Amino acid sequence: MQTLRASKCGLSTAQLPAYIIDVLDALTKAGYEAYIVGGGVRDLMLGLAPKDYDAVTNATPAQVKEVFGRRCRIIGRRFELAHVYSGRELVEVATFRAPPKKAVTSAAGMILRDNNWGTIEQDFARRDFSINALYYQPRKAVVLDFCDAVSDIEHKTLRLLGDPALRFEEDPVRMLRTLRFAAKLNFSIDEKILDIFTPEMTQLLRDVSPHRLYDESQKLFTMGHLNRVLPMLIDFGIWQQLFADIEPEVTEFIERAAKNTDQRISIGKTINPAFFYAVLLWKPFQERCEYYLAKGVVAAEARAQAGLDVLKRQATRTIIPRFAETFIREVWEMQTRLLNPKPQQIAALSNHARFRAGFDFLLLREKSGDNTTQGMGTWWDAYQQMTGDEKERAIAQYNRQRAKNRRKASHDDHVEQKVQPQQDLTEIEPLVNEPEARPRRPRKDKPARERDSGAHRAAPTDLSVVTADHPIMKRKRVKRDLSQVVFGPTQ
Ligand code: ATP
Ligand code: MG
Repeated sequence: MQTLRASKCGLSTAQLPAYIIDVLDALTKAGYEAYIVGGGVRDLMLGLAPKDYDAVTNATPAQVKEVFGRRCRIIGRRFELAHVYSGRELVEVATFRAPPKKAVTSAAGMILRDNNWGTIEQDFARRDFSINALYYQPRKAVVLDFCDAVSDIEHKTLRLLGDPALRFEEDPVRMLRTLRFAAKLNFSIDEKILDIFTPEMTQLLRDVSPHRLYDESQKLFTMGHLNRVLPMLIDFGIWQQLFADIEPEVTEFIERAAKNTDQRISIGKTINPAFFYAVLLWKPFQERCEYYLAKGVVAAEARAQAGLDVLKRQATRTIIPRFAETFIREVWEMQTRLLNPKPQQIAALSNHARFRAGFDFLLLREKSGDNTTQGMGTWWDAYQQMTGDEKERAIAQYNRQRAKNRRKASHDDHVEQKVQPQQDLTEIEPLVNEPEARPRRPRKDKPARERDSGAHRAAPTDLSVVTADHPIMKRKRVKRDLSQVVFGPTQ
């Protein structure tokens, strides 16, 4: 073990926020050892802004609770730790851990419970990468380096502590962490890791809880280098483990969305991590819509069912929380609304809680060459820049164009003597309540079809599987579609 001077590592207390020093000082005053460890130390040494600071101590969670009283909450079962509030900030305070006892690992060697308290040396040995295992005590101005981690930082190398195969088996999530840190820090991955990063190894991710994998996927999406990590996920066979039904390909749409996400993060804008799931699952969702449409399911219902199906399948890999699922389905539903709004709904639509996300999504589709958006992304973009009068004129013109299209459509229909009547553009249900409730005209008995974003491609070939007595066809009609849902505020 080397004790390095903090200043030699480019570290000083001036870089640290008061809340972390406050937590360390309180623990020290109570007679315990306390350090900053992990990403905070690593990022400061690399000249990056740490996302957060993790503290580590020889006090057990119960003792930490004694020190901080009501400012502290003990959380976690598998991995018990203390959450300490310092002002409005939350600091995770972990206790030094010893290797887990045999009884709490699974047959495959995965650690199931990890609350065996130990010494700092033991704690060091069970951390993942050398660069995440530096212990910084700012008051003493020292950094404890147990494994020449400083040299790995200098050489920009990601090195696992211990035997890489064993470490991946213990916790397969470390495979995701490898790619995340390699992409985030632009580090190269140690040969010893590359050697064992096989398809068999990635299979171990199947044993990880889908809740944990969702959390990890969110970290991948929000680290600021999503665009860099996506091809790596494919190359290392992780993509298929995380996204069951999404073709392992970074399409132009996905790439644009990833770059856009990274860009927003780099300028400090907020992002809703579920947005990228909406992007990734868009194609499977559309294919599922087509599948139902071809079976004669009404468009709105086809979309609702397709959304449920796709999200349910994805939940076998990463369980997306309910609020995020709702967000994703609303963004998708917005695509239909924004594509063909009734003129009198345009103003209300642009004030809708989900407008911004829906519009961003539409524009990304359009910019990545999806011409089923029919230029509406650009239209809404321009609309938002307009003054009140200009907006009125734009809506009037949109209305005229729409009527013209409809006439043309019905004319073409007549000329071509199509067997199937053209869909009525006004059939789309309003997403927002209209200001005045007007009595509805009785609907003409139309075949179940509707214009949908991109829903006019060739139907999948295996449709024969779904017959009238298939359970999906017997499912109760979705009574409340999204047009009746009252949406909450944007995240
Ligand atoms: P980030 O910048 O994402 O916060 P981080 O390195 O701080 O990166 P955390 O997930 O906050 O990552 O974890 C804090 C520290 O805990 C890590 O630096 C590492 O030392 C240890 N750690 C976290 N997860 C694991 C794991 N799965 N296996 C071993 N050690 C881990
Ligand atoms: Mg951290």
